[in-house]
Amino acid sequence: MWAPPSLTSFALPRALVVGGLSSGLLIAFVLFLLDLSRRRSTEAAETARSLLTETERRLDAQRRLNDAAAMDSATGLPRFSAQATLITEQIGTQAPSGHGLAIVDLDGFGMVNDSFGHDGGDEVLRRMGQRISGAVGEQGRVYRYGGEGFLVHFIDTDIDQLSRWAEEIRRAVGQPIALYSTHPSFTVTASIGLAHAPEHGIDLQSLLRSADDARHLAKRAGRNQVRLPSAGAQQDANDRLSRVTALREAVARGQLRLAYQPVVAGDTLQLIGFEALARWRHPAWGEVPPSVFIPLAESAGLMEDIGHFVLEQACQQLARWRAMGLRTLCMAVNLSPSQLGQPTLAPWIADCLQRHALPADALTLELTESVLVEDMGAAQRILQSLHELGVRLALDDFGTGYSSMSYLQRLPLDVIKIDRSFVDGIAAEDSTDRAIARTILVLAHEMGLRTIAEGVETVEQMNALQQMQCDEMQGYFFGRPMEVDEATALARGQLRQPMG
Ligand code: C2E
Ligand code: CA
Ligand code: CA
Repeated sequence: MWAPPSLTSFALPRALVVGGLSSGLLIAFVLFLLDLSRRRSTEAAETARSLLTETERRLDAQRRLNDAAAMDSATGLPRFSAQATLITEQIGTQAPSGHGLAIVDLDGFGMVNDSFGHDGGDEVLRRMGQRISGAVGEQGRVYRYGGEGFLVHFIDTDIDQLSRWAEEIRRAVGQPIALYSTHPSFTVTASIGLAHAPEHGIDLQSLLRSADDARHLAKRAGRNQVRLPSAGAQQDANDRLSRVTALREAVARGQLRLAYQPVVAGDTLQLIGFEALARWRHPAWGEVPPSVFIPLAESAGLMEDIGHFVLEQACQQLARWRAMGLRTLCMAVNLSPSQLGQPTLAPWIADCLQRHALPADALTLELTESVLVEDMGAAQRILQSLHELGVRLALDDFGTGYSSMSYLQRLPLDVIKIDRSFVDGIAAEDSTDRAIARTILVLAHEMGLRTIAEGVETVEQMNALQQMQCDEMQGYFFGRPMEVDEATALARGQLRQPMG
């Protein structure tokens, strides 16, 4: 018996897999779902319809949110969330005395809302925003932050100056406020948490963590206080700093290496090529997983160097394999968001391919949606130039982000990689994962894209994917990421080609 997929299991972000579909594709998607369901039951058709309605409703809400996101309507100040990329960049720039962050949290703001309603609450926020801006003048940039707070970024401020500015803010906020002539004046206080770069972190993420820790301390100390991060938070920041330092050294000394995971053809199960995955073994800490060091490298500005290393190594290895007679092998390499922000990327890759005498279509570049969300316009231009080089472009982890389908249409993509999370449940006859995977495959093929399923671990998953005509597969079932010698042996054995 086929059971209709429950709506809850389609909850965000999966419902948004279909986000941004053009009307034509949207219709294709509906027809597909309805066709699927017509053959099953009317109950299923109902589910498909409500899934679609729900998807559209969420997309609409998301669109409205995006428009309203940049400015805060109550205070007229820019919202922190909309400016996070800009602030990250600013913090990355050198400032002789360092950067300071202050999280200004209004104490007991809920009570203001309770007493004066939302309009009154907004008015208080507006005035507090003005007071804070007035107190810091040109020295600090004030953003609206969270539900009842502000964030101030001081560029080129030492830690003593930062503390003094914070005191100014605390005093300014704490002045009596009169909302209506009929009401007595009252006061609102602020708990302020500070963080200073480089002592409490060198990137926005760790500075925010430190400042938030300090804000908690200020609250716990009885509110209306200014605090710096605790020794524990400082220790965390120091640990991070030593990890970044170690990673920087490893990169400089060429101590990273690559592991290679086989990718096979969906129909013949023949080896097609490998995905190159970065590896870092620290002399004392052992293997550090890429899920740890890649984000670290990204936030510490090391990704450009790592990206160059990975591409260079991968192309060099591919050229060696091809020279051994393994001429059909291809290579996939992951690109990080910061790499895609570099205008020099495409010429550099062109040069790399040329130096190793590789045809462009032997190289696949894998990117995730996060790459695209930040600056779609810039990403589009760079992807276009990569596309013109003739390399294959793959969208990695497909289905885990938002509105993935819209990217498929706007970008010159060649391949989508269906995320492991869908492959997980794909073997179960009536599973939601299976329905989603099939939908993705149908749509991708209709758009002329190739599909790769990743995280294939069992024969059942492989069978299901073969039935759905998935073009390529990758996963522990075919091989884990392996060291170069093992990959060479595998390729030689599989392709049975003599040494060239
Ligand atoms: P990814 O690109 O999605 O890579 C696939 C990850 O899934 C790899 O983890 C791989 O070991 C793992 N995997 C493959 N098959 C299976 C399977 O059947 N079952 C399970 N459970 N896992 C499987 P890894 O090597 O730890 O890499 C994690 C992530 O780190 C990568 O995800 C990628 O986002 C990032 N990464 C790795 N190397 C690089 C690199 O050179 N550059 C960039 N920018 N990112 C990299
Ligand atoms: Ca990948
Ligand atoms: Ca992936």
